[in-house]
Amino acid sequence: MTEWKNGIAKFTIPTPFPVGDVNVYIVKGERLTLIDAGPKTEEAWHAFCDQLKQLNLAPSDIEQVILTHHHADHAGLLDYFSKDLEVYGHSINERWLSPSEAFTEKQHTFFKKLFIEFGIPAEYQKFIDVMKEDRRFTCDRSLTGFLAEGDIPVGLSDWKVVETPGHAQSHIGLYREKDGIYIGGDHLLAHITPNPIIEPPLPGETERPKSLLQYNRSLKKLLDIPIEFVYSGHGKEVYHVNDSIHMNLKQQHARAHKVKKWLESESLTVFEACQRLFPKAYKKELSLTISETVAQFDYLIDLKEINMTNEGGTIRYYA
Ligand SMILES: [Zn+2]
Repeated sequence: MTEWKNGIAKFTIPTPFPVGDVNVYIVKGERLTLIDAGPKTEEAWHAFCDQLKQLNLAPSDIEQVILTHHHADHAGLLDYFSKDLEVYGHSINERWLSPSEAFTEKQHTFFKKLFIEFGIPAEYQKFIDVMKEDRRFTCDRSLTGFLAEGDIPVGLSDWKVVETPGHAQSHIGLYREKDGIYIGGDHLLAHITPNPIIEPPLPGETERPKSLLQYNRSLKKLLDIPIEFVYSGHGKEVYHVNDSIHMNLKQQHARAHKVKKWLESESLTVFEACQRLFPKAYKKELSLTISETVAQFDYLIDLKEINMTNEGGTIRYYA
């Protein structure tokens, strides 16, 4: 049964993705606000409407939407809403939700070069298209306005925006100081660690963002905010936020050092390390497993614990 709690209603929406259900939230403010939407499927729309009905609401009662990030499981369902509905989020959502031809081209070039750098064999070239976001379940939408660090969204004067890039470059959370409630998107989840997904360079940049390093910085940023609990994008609420962040950082450190051990006896490319870390999953989930693997190298390079050499465009890492 869906109900209001602290002026917030949590909906659970099915997705076609391995992650399972996604959570979206209706927040009472000066404007009735939907935080995230769900994927673009009939099933998701029915689940959403059913839960709205339990609150005696209809889709037309929603006055605005705020996106925690651009991923299809959070944004796709927007295509089912009126085109006039106002949608807000970080400016980096825009290149994914309303991709220009130039950005699509940029993605292709970026991933092609990355495949060589990572030592991914030619037979996996077809995955370049898979690395680009699957647009089947996402929306075609332009944001009404952008949100950035410290902003107070229109119609939600109790809430403040916290930028938390890492899992996505567009990622934000919303914090309500009076009771310490934080709506965190996929930044902090109860049972899984979000993937630090590789994205093309940000506008005006030439290097890809080091997603895991950003993610860790964004985690540490939350340590300074008195958060009572987190309403997260998947699964249960997260309590004891600081403990959970410290544990996450510790596990991350251990994971990277497992990779470092290998590099002490031989040099490896990202692809070779990926096959070892994910012997079964890498063929099916190349994009996620490669993101997770390169994250370990970025982490160790940042600590100056490993080095790299460029051999004809392919990077080999060694300790
Ligand atoms: Zn996500």
